[in-house]
Amino acid sequence: METKGHVHSFESFGTKDGPGIRFVLFMQGCPLRCLYCHNTDTWSTSSRNKTLSPQEAFNEVAKVKGFIRSGGVTVSGGEPLLQPEFVLELFKLCKEANIHTALDTSGFILNDKTKLVLEQTDLVLLDIKHIDPVKYKTLTSVSLDNTLRFIAYLETINKPAWIRYVVVPGYSDDEADLHQWAKFVSQFKVVKRVDILPFHQMGTNKWEELGKKYQLKDTPTPTPESIKMVENIFLSYGLPIVK
Ligand code: SF4
Repeated sequence: METKGHVHSFESFGTKDGPGIRFVLFMQGCPLRCLYCHNTDTWSTSSRNKTLSPQEAFNEVAKVKGFIRSGGVTVSGGEPLLQPEFVLELFKLCKEANIHTALDTSGFILNDKTKLVLEQTDLVLLDIKHIDPVKYKTLTSVSLDNTLRFIAYLETINKPAWIRYVVVPGYSDDEADLHQWAKFVSQFKVVKRVDILPFHQMGTNKWEELGKKYQLKDTPTPTPESIKMVENIFLSYGLPIVK
């Protein structure tokens, strides 16, 4: 049976999800439940916005191939590794056409199938949302172990990674935790870039539409001073911060 991907949506000229101008495909389904999620409408695996074969998705990529020459294709989510067969086939088509491939993931799923996807991936965009296992679970509802295993695996296969860290006041801005996070991340040679992302109130209406309580409604955006503090801590461990 032909592989089909459940796709939430796509964006032809993305500039935030990897180098250059990119075609970004947002996959349906996510096993995490991040308190600050902007894309709660991607959570459900049963929602069927668009169902595309890898070739059909690639046909969309091909329409903008001239524009994404400096960039490439990013598969994001949701969690794209919930649908490894689809991403694998799509990335193979991209590689055959000399198009750069990036995978935006929480690192939650590492198995034989997702390892095959990584073979076809040029760059991994990995969120390490916290370093404290209890606080990670509070933020995401899942265990941190998988993500730690994931980055360790990237190191063994020498796969370049950009790491993202969302600063949420009261949740992920504790100095001692930030030191632990930076110390941990700085041991990996595959980490080519670290992005510090300030929490913003976005997508709150989507939580309401889902009938879920949005717990961060009173959480402010971090101050410039607190972002600077995070930056300074990360820099003190030699992390390649991009401002
Ligand atoms: S991993 Fe991304 S899509 Fe999934 S819950 Fe977290 S922020 Fe939302």
